[in-house]
Amino acid sequence: MQFHWSPEDVAFREQARRWLQAHVPREAAPHSGPASRDFALAWQRQLHAAGWSGISWPVAYGGQGWSLERQMIWYEEYVAAGAPSPLNPGFVAHNHAGPTLIACGTEAQKAFHLPRILAGEVLWCQGFSEPGAGSDLASLRTFGEVQGDHLVVTGQKIWSSYSDIAEYQELLIRTQPGSQRHRGLSWLICDMRSPGITVRPIRNMAGATHFSEVFYDQVRIPLSNVVGALHDGWRVAMTTLGFERSTAATALQLELLVKVDRLRHWVAEQPAQARDPALLQELAVLRAEAAALRAMTYQTLFRDPATPFGGSIVRLYFAELAQRIHRLGMDLLGPSNADAQAGGAWPYAYLDAYSETIAGGTSEIQRNIIGERILGLPREAAR
Ligand SMILES: Cc1cc2nc3c(=O)[nH]c(=O)nc-3n(C[C@H](O)[C@H](O)[C@H](O)COP(=O)(O)OP(=O)(O)OC[C@H]3O[C@@H](n4cnc5c(N)ncnc54)[C@H](O)[C@@H]3O)c2cc1C
Repeated sequence: MQFHWSPEDVAFREQARRWLQAHVPREAAPHSGPASRDFALAWQRQLHAAGWSGISWPVAYGGQGWSLERQMIWYEEYVAAGAPSPLNPGFVAHNHAGPTLIACGTEAQKAFHLPRILAGEVLWCQGFSEPGAGSDLASLRTFGEVQGDHLVVTGQKIWSSYSDIAEYQELLIRTQPGSQRHRGLSWLICDMRSPGITVRPIRNMAGATHFSEVFYDQVRIPLSNVVGALHDGWRVAMTTLGFERSTAATALQLELLVKVDRLRHWVAEQPAQARDPALLQELAVLRAEAAALRAMTYQTLFRDPATPFGGSIVRLYFAELAQRIHRLGMDLLGPSNADAQAGGAWPYAYLDAYSETIAGGTSEIQRNIIGERILGLPREAAR
């Protein structure tokens, strides 16, 4: 895939590079809790004040209204500059809640929420998965009963990233009594400060507590917070998952090439490793694969509409490659390294990379989608 950058795009890249070089915070971002919230929102406010927030979001809602090419240039420069990980507490709002509102929200919902997201005033989380309804999301049971102009919600979600520190949640629940599977669901904007919500953080194997169980006990949510139509939540949820499985991880995908290059440069300076043919070959293969991922990422961003499930291919490839690159980083640099030369905190990233083959749909589920929807293989037997 070849890009022909206009002189204006080249100037945009230069401007982005210079700004990032001058402003990227040098301290490490906290991984969870209120400190991670403060850090992420302060950085977002800085981006917003300088005009780097919402690069391709509509101007009417506070975005810059620039092209997808510019969005990609920004991501490339962002990860090359070693800016705070794109997988931060702002991830849900910027990468799938905001885009879902742009695609499916009412004018009032867009006008209220989008500018607040871009200005770094609020965080969002996602409440889709439940105990017993992860891969099989359509079996979810949290229920909202219509009472006047409100839904009264009772049930439980799990693995809801950043729900302990977010103001809003993209909440998928059953709203039509007696409905089954994909029918009768609704996608709601849930204010996490509503009475009746209890959030209980879960510690992951990397030691972070960025996801939680969320309990809802008679939580009142105005019907005006339904996104799309009442009982039409599956369609909206598929829009959200479409973003989550395609464009949401763009910066993380581009970042893998930067990480392999940091390892390459570190190896080149080590007298023993720089002469190890097996290691050099492994690095060369990983670099070629990260470059292939970058090409696939570009293709996803400017996707041919004929391949609507192509996001699953990229998602699967990224998740498995991320684990191999971080494993090599750990093998080379060791668990206790301070990692000043190679950049990035490898031990945490290595452990965290295991979540990539689970979050947003496991690798097995992505393989099912690729098999059934793209390759046309026989569908899995219905449960
Ligand atoms: C870091 C992280 C962040 C997350 N953040 C959020 C969030 O913010 N909001 C949210 O709602 N959820 C979130 N999740 C949850 C995530 O979406 C689910 O964990 C995921 O969908 C898998 O569901 P499950 O955990 O219930 O596993 P299960 O669905 O129980 O799967 C267990 C195993 O069975 C396999 N399996 C299941 N069905 C099939 C099948 N049909 N064919 C083949 N294999 C199958 C799976 O691949 C997996 O290996 C997060 C998860 C992680 C790890």
